[in-house]
Amino acid sequence: MNIKNYINGNFHNPSSNNWIDNYNPSNGEVYGQIPNSSKEDIENAYIAAKSAFPSWSRTTLEERSRILLKISEGIEANLDKLAKAESKDNGKPISLAKAIDIPRASSNFRFFANAITQFASESHESVGMNAINYTLRQSIGVVGCISPWNLPLYLFTWKIAPAIAAGNCVVAKPSEVTPMTAYLLGEICNEAGLPKGVLNIVHGLGTSTGQAIIEHPDIKAISFTGGTATGAHIARTAAPMFKKLSLELGGKNPNIIFADCDYDDMLKTTVKSSFANQGQICLCGSRIFVEASIYEKFKTDFVKKVKQLKVGHPSKNDTNIGALVSKPHLEKVMDYIKIAKEENGKILCGGNQVTVTGFENGYYLEPTVIEVPTDECRVNQEEIFGPVVTIMPFKTEDDVLQMANKVKYGLSATLWTNDLKRTMRMSHQIQAGIVWVNTWLMRDLRTPFGGMKASGVGREGGFEALRFFTEPKNVCIKY
Ligand code: NAD
Repeated sequence: MNIKNYINGNFHNPSSNNWIDNYNPSNGEVYGQIPNSSKEDIENAYIAAKSAFPSWSRTTLEERSRILLKISEGIEANLDKLAKAESKDNGKPISLAKAIDIPRASSNFRFFANAITQFASESHESVGMNAINYTLRQSIGVVGCISPWNLPLYLFTWKIAPAIAAGNCVVAKPSEVTPMTAYLLGEICNEAGLPKGVLNIVHGLGTSTGQAIIEHPDIKAISFTGGTATGAHIARTAAPMFKKLSLELGGKNPNIIFADCDYDDMLKTTVKSSFANQGQICLCGSRIFVEASIYEKFKTDFVKKVKQLKVGHPSKNDTNIGALVSKPHLEKVMDYIKIAKEENGKILCGGNQVTVTGFENGYYLEPTVIEVPTDECRVNQEEIFGPVVTIMPFKTEDDVLQMANKVKYGLSATLWTNDLKRTMRMSHQIQAGIVWVNTWLMRDLRTPFGGMKASGVGREGGFEALRFFTEPKNVCIKY
């Protein structure tokens, strides 16, 4: 099946007639093609967005909200179709796409449909100076949204929904590795009555299509989620053009387990925070630190539970771990397992590719637990982004805090403890944009979402996203 660009409400082949193969990770086969769009396609998308902007930015909040809600309902109505498509494109279990990815994509539109009706600007009375200031929050114009392959529709819509809710028109590019559900979104937007040109979805490689978006002189803001190296490149390109930038980048998140935690709850959640979505979530707790007094017990119990996880075809109901997203990615993760061995890491379980009968060329890997001799080894410092976690013991709160912070990333952290004062102390000192205590990946869409250090710049979520996608303008009136 061939995917097309969605520009001005219609579906188009790429102008250069250049195509890229689209792989199904569960069997390693090419199952369709996607446009490798050129600068010309991005220009066409930009022109469509620019023409739609005057009318869309003047559309009442109530009407924008109504259309966003219809898109949300359209996603919900297509749950099965979208979940199947996401699973085929990405390798994740259908059950996961059905329970998490697609419902969240629908929630993203519903949330921002409501949030925009509550978004307010401020006024400041300059007391004693006979003046009043009011601040407008104006739509920016045409903005670019670029997303990765791990949670395809979920993260794509997390950007698009606030961008259009705030009255902007969008040129968006999903990952070339997982383009299918973004393609299907176009039809849903048309059915929901989204005016032509408000959202344009262009497919292609990052280095050509993505590059054309970030270089475009009149695309005034870029919201990007992806790898840290790509984020740095985007910052270098966009900053001299004074574009607004939101960068959600990589992570190497600590999962810190104290002996006083609720053990069973911790164990169950730690299996999830390590291996959900084949460990391909930027928020996965890939560095597990365990208080020395319970380390041996944890090691035994954790490895036992991980060994019970079933690696299998994404369409099977009993599959816990599906296929990794691509062959190059599988190879990258396998390389890290090799590096771990060279660095004297001990593979406690996993470490090998899995052959699934009938799907022998799929990209399957055992969930892997590596005991590391030091927190400074590469597998403990670099983002692997696969079903691989490291574990090691710690003695004191100070020691673990130091290790937790001694990486270049600062996206999220998880703490397991029932000591309130320790929770407060550590949450304050840990270098991460998001701290979960006695839970993981619990999300309230109103809260700020994003990372510090090499994990990014800016925050998404709630009004933070609406602030990003608007330009504040202060008006001062003397009376
Ligand atoms: P990636 O950086 O390779 O690609 C992300 C997107 O950027 C893709 O659409 C790609 O085509 C595009 N791109 C690549 N080069 C570009 C360029 N020169 N100009 C414009 N666009 C370009 O990342 P990936 O491999 O798709 O995703 C995995 C990474 O994403 C991991 O590092 C992960 O931690 C990160 N991630 C972060 C978050 C977060 O919220 N912080 C969420 C999910 C994933």
